[in-house]
Amino acid sequence: MNSPKTACVHAGTLFDEKTGGVNSPIYTSTSFAYLGLDEAVYPRYFNIPNTEALGKKIAALEQADSGMVFSSGMAAITSVLFAFLRQGDHAIFQTGLYGGTFHFVTTRLERFGIEYDISVNNEPATFAGLIKENTRLIYIETPSNPLLKVTDIKATADLARSNNLLTVIDNTFASPINQHPYPLGIDIVIHSATKYLGGHADICAGAAVSGKENMLKIRDMARGLGGSLNAQTVYLLERSIKTLALRMEQHNRNAQFLAEKLFVHPAIEKVYYPGLTHHPEHEIARRQMSGFGGMLSFEIRDLDPVQFQRNLKLIRPSVSLGGVDSIICSPALTSHRHLSPQEKKNEGISDNLLRLSVGIEDADDLLHDIEQAIS
Ligand SMILES: *Cc1c(COP(=O)(O)O)cnc(C)c1O
Repeated sequence: MNSPKTACVHAGTLFDEKTGGVNSPIYTSTSFAYLGLDEAVYPRYFNIPNTEALGKKIAALEQADSGMVFSSGMAAITSVLFAFLRQGDHAIFQTGLYGGTFHFVTTRLERFGIEYDISVNNEPATFAGLIKENTRLIYIETPSNPLLKVTDIKATADLARSNNLLTVIDNTFASPINQHPYPLGIDIVIHSATKYLGGHADICAGAAVSGKENMLKIRDMARGLGGSLNAQTVYLLERSIKTLALRMEQHNRNAQFLAEKLFVHPAIEKVYYPGLTHHPEHEIARRQMSGFGGMLSFEIRDLDPVQFQRNLKLIRPSVSLGGVDSIICSPALTSHRHLSPQEKKNEGISDNLLRLSVGIEDADDLLHDIEQAIS
């Protein structure tokens, strides 16, 4: 099933033998028959039929062999890291990590005896310089939050392969419609399904896809960590993904439109969007993305960013991203609020930077909302 639109609707769907209904039945039990089975069926073992079916759907979208769903993006991330890192290992992380990942890495890994380096940038040449004898994996995230920096996926995968290292990517911002890191050579692809996969700001979930062998290791660790997703949410997520390709088309189109309009707007200082030709890594983005996504950031001039957000009528100032509703937030007041002024400066997070998660509304309505909030 190669076409993403078809895979969104059909991949992994469980056939309802009893009625022939078109949707996967929901399995709510936590107690299942065991006689004659090699392995017990249990929600936290990640082997309920719906859960497995949804893993297959996401794996098909990512063009990978095997997939799993989790109770959150962080459950996926921590399960993957703990599945492959052990005491004495070293890991390399790119700069500009999602806040929750950054916090976990910098406050938890050391106590398990795991060493790490956070690269000063997102360039494979810099990752190469950080490789040590005990390095086990390289972890990237592209496009990054909130400045939409683009990491060269294939160059990172090639570097890792030639050094026998595992690669992990957080593919949340791109979605499995716009970017396929697995066929480019990345070993494990992770999503916060809370964002585009769920798409309606009403589901908290995560996903990971990989080859069969790696997936068994991840599942083994995940069973102990316990981040499985409940049956009702599994169903909602499967339902959401049926429209993912359609939604992403509109997210891509709206964000490109707004990025171009904001770029020439006199009240806007800077626009960060990989689909703009002036974006420093636009050429890399063109090579590895089939759409540039629904996330963009910009800096406003001569206007209090909080007042600007209050002036908006359609676009809501709120956190998270990837839903059908357009929402906006100030990284300096949310994800990056704990950074010192100097750290914010180093990271390129100014007080007038705003991150916009462009929804699927009419693009002109969104532009008018921004224009009326500026004037
Ligand atoms: C939200 C997010 C996460 C964490 O996902 P949760 O579902 O909130 O646990 C990880 N990475 C990125 C890029 C995110 O946006």
